[in-house]
Amino acid sequence: MESIFEYMQTYDFENLFFCQDKALDFKAIIAIHDTTLGPATGGCRMWQDYPSEMDAVEDALRLARGMTYKYAAAGVNLGGGKAVIIGDPKRTDREPVFRALGKFINRLGGKYITGEDVGTTLQDMEYIRMETEHVVTLPTYLGGAGDIAPMTALGTIRAMQACCERVFGSGSLDGKKVAIQGLGAVGHNIVAQLHEHGARMVVTDIDPQKVEAVTARFEIDAVAAEAIYDVECDVFCPCALGKVINDDTLGRLKCKIICGCANNQLAEERHGDQLEEQGLVYAPDYIVNAGGTIYDTDRLGVGGVSHERGKEKVKRVYDNMMRVFEIADRDKLPTYQAADRMAEERIRQIAEVKKYVDDF
Ligand code: NAD
Repeated sequence: MESIFEYMQTYDFENLFFCQDKALDFKAIIAIHDTTLGPATGGCRMWQDYPSEMDAVEDALRLARGMTYKYAAAGVNLGGGKAVIIGDPKRTDREPVFRALGKFINRLGGKYITGEDVGTTLQDMEYIRMETEHVVTLPTYLGGAGDIAPMTALGTIRAMQACCERVFGSGSLDGKKVAIQGLGAVGHNIVAQLHEHGARMVVTDIDPQKVEAVTARFEIDAVAAEAIYDVECDVFCPCALGKVINDDTLGRLKCKIICGCANNQLAEERHGDQLEEQGLVYAPDYIVNAGGTIYDTDRLGVGGVSHERGKEKVKRVYDNMMRVFEIADRDKLPTYQAADRMAEERIRQIAEVKKYVDDF
């Protein structure tokens, strides 16, 4: 990124805020992409390994824009935003840092709502909550939704059912073979839910203890981390890292569907085109993994958490995925582009609705 304003113009950003306090050694960026659908919402990342300040700014902007698409495509009435604290994520004096951020967020009067992200914890969110109410990811004892990983897993399962409907003509996962990469917070919940659906599974993780825990509980097979790409299966389910669909792995995959919760699965956009050419059905990551954030933000504006209501909304990831396929067929697009189009269409349409004033 050479020029901040040029970048903001290219991708239609609304605001960028810089916050600092020298005595606290505190530096943060808050990026607001689009508030057509509602307040800009997105987690707070704490990271120090940016080659330059411009890289941190670009990260905040890019992530904020990603949130706009994620909420829009998920049918949620929120816009996209993100905060980046430039600092060591292992820093121990967290209270002043996060309370300072809370103060700055409060100044924005609810136009930006924050949450947990890479390098930040629920405890950090508690510090932010001391200074502002504009924070979503909170423990249940503070009125939040608590652990959202099981809901991210549920959304992933719903997307997988939609993919099976498309490929096999039935959304049933019974007997389907799924290769799962990563058995962390979401991955191990996916295994438990797939087990309930009668799916067959092959799993992997770089942490042998996680593999041991899951294979002992469900009597399923495990392979070495690198071997997961070669497993013959119906669904490859990436739940660990980004960029796993790349030049090295594309030729190895022996699945019909790629549907997992990991963020940024395509190393480059062209890999999404190549999947299409190879006849593989790719479920765009931000459609698949929206369940947690749908559940987490459901309480906003409706007076608190309702597990039943939140869960019902998460189940709609199935419909969102089906709509992506509809748009892909209609406009002859690869699925990753169809997802973006679905989000952009919703923002355009709701902007149209919002032009009508309530009183006239
Ligand atoms: P996590 O850190 O709890 O789990 C990731 C797991 O992947 C770990 O067990 C780790 O050992 C394993 N792993 C790392 N490298 C690996 C490799 N090369 N091969 C196999 N396993 C490997 O993270 P999580 O919260 O379960 O999230 C998983 C992915 O889903 C991430 O990409 C995350 O950004 C995305 N995501 C998570 C949520 C959520 O609700 N937690 C929501 C949206 C997206």
